[in-house]
Amino acid sequence: MKKPTNKPTLLPKMYCNLFGHDYEVTKRVTYHVKEYTCRHCKKELTTNSNGKLIELTPKFKEINAILERIHTSRNARLKKKTLASSIY
Ligand SMILES: [Zn+2]
Repeated sequence: MKKPTNKPTLLPKMYCNLFGHDYEVTKRVTYHVKEYTCRHCKKELTTNSNGKLIELTPKFKEINAILERIHTSRNARLKKKTLASSIY
């Protein structure tokens, strides 16, 4: 006879409701904008232009992707410049 599992499975969402979300940085978009994901319920947040945490909606994902592209291309250009000046 199989023993029924009485152990209550704590739903991640319930855990977060009780103890709060446990966010970790999953992506650095720019120096100031980061993306966070909750370890338990996988809820995603991002920093907005005011430095406040907001829910990472598809719209903000799009904005962050653009920001990231600008940020990395700016950095790449800086790197290129230093590289070029060290060669010539
Ligand atoms: Zn959570």
